[in-house]
Amino acid sequence: MKTDKKQRKPGKIFILSGPSGSGKTTLLASLIKDNKISNLLVRSCSITTRPRRTGERDAKEYFFVTTAEFKRLQKAKKILEWTRYLGYYYGTPKGPLESKLKEGQNIGLCLDIKGSRTLKKLYPDKTVTIFVLPPSLDELKTRIEKRSRADRKETASRIRLASQEILAAAGFDYCILNQNLKVALGELKDIFLQEIKK
Ligand code: 5GP
Repeated sequence: MKTDKKQRKPGKIFILSGPSGSGKTTLLASLIKDNKISNLLVRSCSITTRPRRTGERDAKEYFFVTTAEFKRLQKAKKILEWTRYLGYYYGTPKGPLESKLKEGQNIGLCLDIKGSRTLKKLYPDKTVTIFVLPPSLDELKTRIEKRSRADRKETASRIRLASQEILAAAGFDYCILNQNLKVALGELKDIFLQEIKK
């Protein structure tokens, strides 16, 4: 029997992981802005207890909450996966992600390695994991220092963690070397367009 309603394909989850300073957030934002992609991909906004950086807006880069609020949401099972990074909590809100998936939307997230593994386990057929590698540890150090100039302790911790995180790259579906943003974005776009056809 013919039906007028187009069969909607289920949405996919695209996770970008990589050390702090690898450029994963910029890559995801640039992918979503791309003319060919903007109608096909939405970003999931995470919840965090980390303080806001200059220029970050609530409900845009993150939902910024107190630790008490984060724990309340966790207890109410409103957080699908979460991690603790350098003493702060980060989590993916459950409701928005599930409803977007049901509507057939593709979702982009930037998560740490733990988060990426959790979502891959929860949605093995829907999740595509992409690891973003920095060109070198020296370049990564420069990028991290630029970002958190004010806080030397945080800079050192992010650099230390980054060297450990890079070792996890092999477990991902794809790896992208972010030496040149334009080239890396081209690769990410190709991966996305191929995966949504599957
Ligand atoms: P940043 O403080 O640099 O914004 O984020 C620190 C780390 O937490 C990054 O690796 C980032 O991708 C990760 N992250 C951000 N939001 C989430 C989340 O909701 N869940 C998990 N597991 N990691 C997150």
